[in-house]
Amino acid sequence: MKADHFEQQKLLDLAAEDVALTQLAHRGRTLPEVAAVAAAEEAERTFSADVVRAETEVRDLGREVKRLESDVETVRAREDKDQRLLDSGSVAPKEMTNLQHELESLKRRQSDLEDQELELMERLEVAEKALAAAQHGLDRAREDRERAEQQRDDALADIADQTKRHEAARTEVAGGLSQPLLALYDRIRTQTGTTGAALLKARSCQGCRIEFYGSQLAAVRTADPHEVVRCENCGRILVRTAESGL
Ligand SMILES: [Zn+2]
Repeated sequence: MKADHFEQQKLLDLAAEDVALTQLAHRGRTLPEVAAVAAAEEAERTFSADVVRAETEVRDLGREVKRLESDVETVRAREDKDQRLLDSGSVAPKEMTNLQHELESLKRRQSDLEDQELELMERLEVAEKALAAAQHGLDRAREDRERAEQQRDDALADIADQTKRHEAARTEVAGGLSQPLLALYDRIRTQTGTTGAALLKARSCQGCRIEFYGSQLAAVRTADPHEVVRCENCGRILVRTAESGL
């Protein structure tokens, strides 16, 4: 294929835009900000589970304390009733002894229940502190996650913005190329995955870095300036300039 020598130079601008676009796409796929969001989400989930666990414990202990309070109340009421009976003096002596025994037993029971209640309230206090700490951790984890999301969105917006600019620049360069040359370039670009042309610099293809010698070099050197020459190694169009070392 033949193409104007000057037009062939423009392929380097096209290749430069394609390199930039390839790098932007790669950056988008490997953004550390995306990994940071995933890590922040994981931390948030952990704190969230801690909060649920602590809430459950606080609720269970609170219920237990209430139950004990109610038991203490029942015992006290019974004591009051027995005491009133004793005080009334209307009880037979044998029954009186029974009542006194029962009262003693009730007082022991009340004391036991109150000890248990005290212990539970101490545990409840510890659990409430743990809940507050977990809640605080969750709040901070949520802030971290929101910040990480913002940073990721900023990075993605930056990539989208640069991609748009490079695509516009590429379209402009491509508009100045003849259809057959552009079609050849694009076909090669699809094959290499990056660019369809490369500068021949100091006898080396800048696409695949191979250096030309002997008959290959002679073929490139003697080729018509308007002839489209391709790298035998990577297939890219070799763009010859004053830097080519021919
Ligand atoms: Zn090459």
